[in-house]
Amino acid sequence: MGTIDTTNATRPTRGRVGGTDADRAAKFRNRMPPSAKRSVFIRMKILLNNRKPPVNPERQEILDSTTATAEMKQMLRDMGANAVGIADFDPRFAFTQAGEVKEKFVIVYGIAMSFDTMADIGPRSQEEVHRVYHQLDDIGVRIANQIAAFGYSATMQPNEGDIPLVAYAWLAGLGELGKHGSLISPELGASFRLGAVTTDMPLVADGAQDFGIDEVCLKCGVCTRFCPGDAIGPEKHLVNGVERWHIDTKACEPYFHKLYGCKICLMVCPLNSRGIFGAEFKKASKVLVQTKDAAGMLKLIEERSNIDYAEFQEPDAKAR
Ligand code: SF4
Ligand code: SF4
Repeated sequence: MGTIDTTNATRPTRGRVGGTDADRAAKFRNRMPPSAKRSVFIRMKILLNNRKPPVNPERQEILDSTTATAEMKQMLRDMGANAVGIADFDPRFAFTQAGEVKEKFVIVYGIAMSFDTMADIGPRSQEEVHRVYHQLDDIGVRIANQIAAFGYSATMQPNEGDIPLVAYAWLAGLGELGKHGSLISPELGASFRLGAVTTDMPLVADGAQDFGIDEVCLKCGVCTRFCPGDAIGPEKHLVNGVERWHIDTKACEPYFHKLYGCKICLMVCPLNSRGIFGAEFKKASKVLVQTKDAAGMLKLIEERSNIDYAEFQEPDAKAR
């Protein structure tokens, strides 16, 4: 089912629209906590080089795709995934830079970020993001190895891979796109990250689903109110042929860099209250009442700790 009409979808291009401020991005990387830097090293220098394992020439034919799909999902959950779904591969949803992707299915999985750590909006949240990305890619390589050993091709798809992970998580029925541009899961709220493996192992796709989330976003504007960059508009946009929620990445980026990968929009989303982070969100919601809006939230973040924000020039959202 799903609530987005993809009839006229065209291939997206990887990367931020309008490019990135190289100086600010370099400062952002340099300022990462050591554990985040180690996770990035393992992902980029080791796991990425092993994302497409050699395929066993002695294929073990899959005779029952339904059972194989259930076993694959269980294997991912045993490895630490909190949500798993399968999508049909659709070439209209592969990055233009990716060339031709020949695999037929996309296994998409999510791992929860500790809500309290994510809501820190400082170095601890950056550690948590990279811990989870590392775990996602590590699981992806191990799953790709398992599939290749059966005699089918498989490719681990990291965040910077051949396909947009949020689009495929939606196509795999893991959740719906929120106004803040991230996926919202009925179980994990907005506090999770995504990984994927593309494969030609015959599986059964789940397809996009309507969880009633889009309907909530149409009436709610909490993320818009708390976004310091004015990057989350109240209306959907036509993006690559699809009418959908879309954030202004150019407006987001200065605050993303300044606030250690700002996740204010994920933290304030009331749909966090519906899933496993209900109790944590209840505590956080007191901060929302106290701070009221983006200015109040920024003031609290900058006052509450000894984090040094001075090296980042204050972006002037209204001047854009
Ligand atoms: S804060 Fe509200 S509008 Fe924004 S993504 Fe969450 S539910 Fe949707
Ligand atoms: S990450 Fe921060 S600046 Fe970017 S859209 Fe979310 S709240 Fe706004």
